[in-house]
Amino acid sequence: MPGMQRLHQGVPDGCAGDEYVAAIKRGDIEKAAELSFDCIQCGLCATRCMAEMSQYHIAQMARRLRGKYLAPKSEHIEAQVEAIAQGLYDDVVEKLKAHGNVDPSTHEIDDEIKKLKELYVNRQMEPHAADDGWTPDDKTATLNN
Ligand code: SF4
Repeated sequence: MPGMQRLHQGVPDGCAGDEYVAAIKRGDIEKAAELSFDCIQCGLCATRCMAEMSQYHIAQMARRLRGKYLAPKSEHIEAQVEAIAQGLYDDVVEKLKAHGNVDPSTHEIDDEIKKLKELYVNRQMEPHAADDGWTPDDKTATLNN
């Protein structure tokens, strides 16, 4: 591929831009997705590419194709997506949206937005070392509550 030797000049250490592009050219989407996992989409390799490719978009495409067509299906995620599509969380989302928006021209933060930030900051997060059976205290977002 023209210019591949230049891909490594000025790009972050450990970047596999040329490797995942080569995997795509071989038709190995799975490998390309794996190799591009650490790509932070900075675009530096694209600025160096004499073939004028956008490697990071190619990486994103490989990961999306893998997620859509190659990765094993996750039953609990499909159930959750279906619940969202059926409107299970519409009321909760409407309550959150009722706190208002930040005006991008002024960036003014009123009391309602402060409450929204407080809700976010104080939310219960899943512990990093939680076992598979962990559930939050508030069962609003779980399907089997
Ligand atoms: S866009 Fe991805 S592959 Fe390209 S230099 Fe940045 S991190 Fe590396």
